[in-house]
Amino acid sequence: MKAVKIDHIGIVVKNAEERLKLYRDFLGLEVSRVEELPDRGLRVYFVKIGETRFELLEEISEDSEIHSFLEKRGEGIHHIAIKVDNVIEAIEKAARNGLKPLSNEPKKGAHGTKVVFIHPKTTGGILLELVEGGDE
Ligand code: ZN
Repeated sequence: MKAVKIDHIGIVVKNAEERLKLYRDFLGLEVSRVEELPDRGLRVYFVKIGETRFELLEEISEDSEIHSFLEKRGEGIHHIAIKVDNVIEAIEKAARNGLKPLSNEPKKGAHGTKVVFIHPKTTGGILLELVEGGDE
């Protein structure tokens, strides 16, 4: 497995249109993609900045992946995503390195990517997302 770059920084927002006043209107960044992930209860907005992106995560149903985060902590940085060349290999390697993947199989991410999250208790407090694919 090879780590390639910081793919994106995931940020939980309550209302993306409200937060785009910062990223799009103030910073002048381009929203490159908006996508709904109904099985994860999310709508995601990708905002390009240089070689990487912000991913704004907005809840569309109460059983979303970010529901308890929003309730407990409110808006803020949720995860850092690192692009890897092979996410299945990454899951196997994580287990061998004392890291705890949150699933044994990759999940479907935005724009056809395969993703897995690594538990923050095993990474020093960072929810890490490993992403394969999705270049645009
Ligand atoms: Zn992400």
